[in-house]
Amino acid sequence: MKFNTKVIHGGQKHDASTGAVMTPIYQTSTFAQPSPGKPIHPDYEYARSANPTRTALENALASIENGARGLAFSSGLAATDCLIRTFKSGDEIIAMDDLYGGTYRMFTNIYKDSGIVFHFVDMNDLDKFESLINENTKLVWLETPTNPLMKLADIAAIAEITKKHNLLFAVDNTFATPYLQKPLDLGADIVMHSATKYLGGHSDLIAGALIIKDADLGKKLHFQQFATGAILGPMDSFLVLRGIKTLHLRMQRHCENGQKVAEFLENHAKVKTVYYPGLQSHPFHDLAKKQMKAFGGMVSFTFKSGKKNDAISFLEKIKLFTLAESLGGVESLANHPIVMSHASVPGKKRLELGITDDLVRLSVGIEDIEDLLEDLEQALS
Ligand SMILES: *Cc1c(COP(=O)(O)O)cnc(C)c1O
Repeated sequence: MKFNTKVIHGGQKHDASTGAVMTPIYQTSTFAQPSPGKPIHPDYEYARSANPTRTALENALASIENGARGLAFSSGLAATDCLIRTFKSGDEIIAMDDLYGGTYRMFTNIYKDSGIVFHFVDMNDLDKFESLINENTKLVWLETPTNPLMKLADIAAIAEITKKHNLLFAVDNTFATPYLQKPLDLGADIVMHSATKYLGGHSDLIAGALIIKDADLGKKLHFQQFATGAILGPMDSFLVLRGIKTLHLRMQRHCENGQKVAEFLENHAKVKTVYYPGLQSHPFHDLAKKQMKAFGGMVSFTFKSGKKNDAISFLEKIKLFTLAESLGGVESLANHPIVMSHASVPGKKRLELGITDDLVRLSVGIEDIEDLLEDLEQALS
């Protein structure tokens, strides 16, 4: 199957007991056993281990990312945590120096006393990255494109190094989605998603996912999830599964609108820099063309004045764009990273990364582009 067919049919079967075309919401915690230890269906005993609605979603996730196994979690951070918990004191993890704020907070705060050593490095400097690898290194953690400056890193080039040193390689694919970028095909071992964003796609739930290329590692991570418990419930599993069925259509429009918004902003007198991989001016435009099918719906920009107040006044004046946390839904959102999405990243670190006071991040939705541009124009002027 090709991608647009997979989002609808990949890993899916009609419900065996009733023929229901769409997966029912199996709102049950447990499953009957005619004889002790012999459940009616061998996969289903207690829903922390497996629930048929979640299984359907997990099979869809594995299918669209080309992995052997999908696992659905109660949030994106729960998915990341499940993986990190499999490491022990003395193990070392190398991560991109530009990460989702909550991931950075988990690595530097929650795992501070775990004995697991985290290194943060710009993975565009492949020599520096490779120089950090030693016999204790176990995992490489990458996010591309990054949030909110849309920095990219070359997944295939990093995978070559992780393979040489026998390391696990995980990629947070939340921003790109498998419609635009397939890390497992490029050599990664694990894909992580905040399914809260584009996979769910409607800003109506919190969910996370791991998709694993190797079936044995998938089994190990399923055991970790089963034994620690951060699973996704059947109702939310149904909603993410439903979201995935239109992922290709939504992403297509997100990309079209994102490009037009980025070009509009780049030509606007009040705007200084626009961060969007689809612009010629973007430092990672060539890598984006090589590694991604198109450029997504996330656009960040700064003001010519450089003033924080200009950002605030813009964010107070937008009408169709909603000022809110999160991204990836059908509706357009705007965010002020220094006080919202990136408040958990220390001020000094933020400035090093280029997250300035006047930076605004847009999650461009799938509304009519004319209405979006009109809203941006009135708020800017
Ligand atoms: C939102 C987000 C996360 C965290 O996911 P939650 O579902 O909020 O726990 C991780 N990575 C990226 C890139 C995100 O945007």
